[in-house]
Amino acid sequence: MREELVALAKLAEMDDSARDIDAELKQIPQQLEELRSSVQMLESMLAQEREQLAQAEALKVQQTAELKERGEGLQRARKKVAQSSNIREANAAEREVDANRRAIKEREEELGRIAETIEAKTASLAEREKDFEEAKGVLQTQEETTKRRVAELEEQRAGLLNGREQLVAKVPKNVVKRYERLRGGIPNAVIIIKDGNCTACRMALPPQLSIELQRADELHQCPHCRRIIIHKSVVED
Ligand SMILES: [Zn+2]
Repeated sequence: MREELVALAKLAEMDDSARDIDAELKQIPQQLEELRSSVQMLESMLAQEREQLAQAEALKVQQTAELKERGEGLQRARKKVAQSSNIREANAAEREVDANRRAIKEREEELGRIAETIEAKTASLAEREKDFEEAKGVLQTQEETTKRRVAELEEQRAGLLNGREQLVAKVPKNVVKRYERLRGGIPNAVIIIKDGNCTACRMALPPQLSIELQRADELHQCPHCRRIIIHKSVVED
């Protein structure tokens, strides 16, 4: 088992040397994803603002048409007042004049409010468009920068892990499997023991285990932190 343990120790050392690179390679797509989703959020807010502005403009068209109609109604009512031949007709025509006047006033007020809304929406829309364009620019730059960074990291990683397959081939499959599983959960899955303590969790190892470790007959794990432990004398021989 000795040779296998030596190969495993080398494998772990190699993997540990690439750990920061692996972490960065994992982080880059996550950061890009966050950026992408914030750009998407700005885009949907922008669409919402545009929709609100379109609604306000449609309302303006409608109210303007109604105002025109009421204006014409007022003209007609005034004509009726002038042409009325008795009190009853004159009163009815006057009521029509008043009704149209009130409606015109209401429409004009409504149009004033709509104009304010349109003005405000136009301003905030311009702001949103600016934010969106900016965010898109940042995303694009980030995508280009990280693409270069990923290529760089992958090249470094390949250099560091050169010969890994040969090492893996020297370690029994079940041990590799156990190592890979441990490595997924904790850093430094394999550690070298110098004395009676686990170098990682600093807990004391049972004396019998320390002796067995030096014999290197089988694979051992720290009873406290589950890391694979190999005695220093085994890798140094
Ligand atoms: Zn431990």
